[in-house]
Amino acid sequence: MGRNKKMHILLSNDDGYLAQGLIALANGLQSFADISVVAPDKNRSAASNSLTLEMPLRAHQTDNGFIKVDGTPTDCVHLAITGLLDNEPDMVFAGINHGANLGDDVLYSGTVAAATEGRFLGLPAVAISMVSSDPQYFDTAVKVAVNILQRLLEQPLAKDVLLNINVPDLPWSEIKGFQSTRLGQRHKAEPVIKTSDPRGRTIYWVGPPGAEQDAGPGTDFYAVAQGYVSVTPLQLDLTRYDTLDTLKAWLP
Ligand code: MN
Repeated sequence: MGRNKKMHILLSNDDGYLAQGLIALANGLQSFADISVVAPDKNRSAASNSLTLEMPLRAHQTDNGFIKVDGTPTDCVHLAITGLLDNEPDMVFAGINHGANLGDDVLYSGTVAAATEGRFLGLPAVAISMVSSDPQYFDTAVKVAVNILQRLLEQPLAKDVLLNINVPDLPWSEIKGFQSTRLGQRHKAEPVIKTSDPRGRTIYWVGPPGAEQDAGPGTDFYAVAQGYVSVTPLQLDLTRYDTLDTLKAWLP
């Protein structure tokens, strides 16, 4: 990125192109960078890192200049950085998600997945979520995003770091600060909800995530519960290095 070139940020999300959090983030970052928004045409929360391979994808520009795609968050960012946009972005921001992405949530999250897909860009990617199912203070998360962007510009992090940020749903004046955290863990998910459709056939709804299990000091759960913005650095290499030697000896 040259000194005279304005930063180009790609925004995406998993709640869909109409989501208030996405619109707030686009408005909040537009004075700091050129913004392109490529987002799913409907809510694709919990889509994780899925790519659509068996169907074509269609992209349409909306009245406000966003591009909506009939695919997943990963499809959106993949398209955007592999040819949909005229200019390749420098960085991806995903969100602002309507709901927390804490602990095990990151494995299912479409918000985190959208940021993950930005890893090819060579700059850190950021996922940002509000810790509320019905967030009221998106402007707080926008301030968080602006602060993080400014820090990344002043002092870049390693290019393969993904930041997973969770923001308490509080006015900015009530936020206690920023904390670097590790992912906590949840208990097993609540039971599936079994019911019947109008024709009497059995259907299932996936139940809510489990309650916090590993949620003590140092975790993302703890930070947001104390009124701090939680910032967790994620890595994409899932290799369990401490088991490599054990496995080598164990294998037949
Ligand atoms: Mn979502």
